Amino acid sequence: MAKLGFGEKLRRLFGLARYDENFFEDLTDSLIEGDLGTKQAYAVVEELRAACAQKRLSTEQELRAELKSILLKDACGIDLSPEKSGLSFYLVLGVNGVGKTTSIAKLGRLYAEKLGKERVILAAADTFRAAAIEQLEIHGQRLGLRVVRHQSSSDPGAVVYDAIEAAKASGAAIVLADTAGRLHNKAHLVKELEKIDKIAGSKLAAGRYKKILVLDSTTGQNGLRQAEVFKEAVGLDAVIMSKYDSSARGGLAFALMRELGIPTAYVCVGEGYQDIRPFDPQSYVDEFLGGS
Ligand code: GDP
Repeated sequence: MAKLGFGEKLRRLFGLARYDENFFEDLTDSLIEGDLGTKQAYAVVEELRAACAQKRLSTEQELRAELKSILLKDACGIDLSPEKSGLSFYLVLGVNGVGKTTSIAKLGRLYAEKLGKERVILAAADTFRAAAIEQLEIHGQRLGLRVVRHQSSSDPGAVVYDAIEAAKASGAAIVLADTAGRLHNKAHLVKELEKIDKIAGSKLAAGRYKKILVLDSTTGQNGLRQAEVFKEAVGLDAVIMSKYDSSARGGLAFALMRELGIPTAYVCVGEGYQDIRPFDPQSYVDEFLGGS
């Protein structure tokens, strides 16, 4: 598998007997290849180089441990488990095709297990694509979750409004809202999201409204640009890294934290409903470095 290939490469690099200039250069290249981003890769290697000199690190074990602790500073997770009482609202954002709808279904299943199916509501606020509404409905049927929807091309703000009202009336704990992700029509997208944001912001208690971006792990640094657009439009509380099973690398999560201050909440590792796991910094860094 490609992911092993990347980790294996790092492993081999660390297996070298000499930690000289060539080693640090190759390490920088490998980290860039691992989607850490050029700026961050140089910064991380610079920090490692300084630590090596200062702490007189010389063995593979010492160097790996030091690099791990440097990366861990940027491997920031966030717990998004909804509260049992009161209502939470998660606006799920992302470019078309990144795995937004699938991730909503995965979260729906996860939260339904903890809170009960009747307390989880899905909102089809991507009204631009009729297929997106249908897809969410199919997930809802399979998972036994209520889906609030309107006609396609209707106002997504109205869908969000209705879903929150329905959730309050029925004592639901969480609404997960799908949104349109037409980045090529940025001005329109931003306007639409700002409207939804205003409605949700006015109807939820403080701290109960979260904006979550889904990023396809295979898009690499392009994901960082996507995050910038959505952060600028409505702000972001967390990221879900989707398709991690098909990605050779995982450095994007570190770059997101360091450059934009956005923590990662979940990592998705397949198309099945159960293929989602909370972001665990320790094991994520271990995996990135090709094993502990
Ligand atoms: P959306 O347009 O952002 O809502 O994307 P979808 O949820 O429709 O997903 C697009 C495609 O990616 C679908 O074929 C999904 O099955 C697939 N997909 C979503 N998440 C994952 C994942 O974690 N791993 C893999 N391998 N495929 C995924």
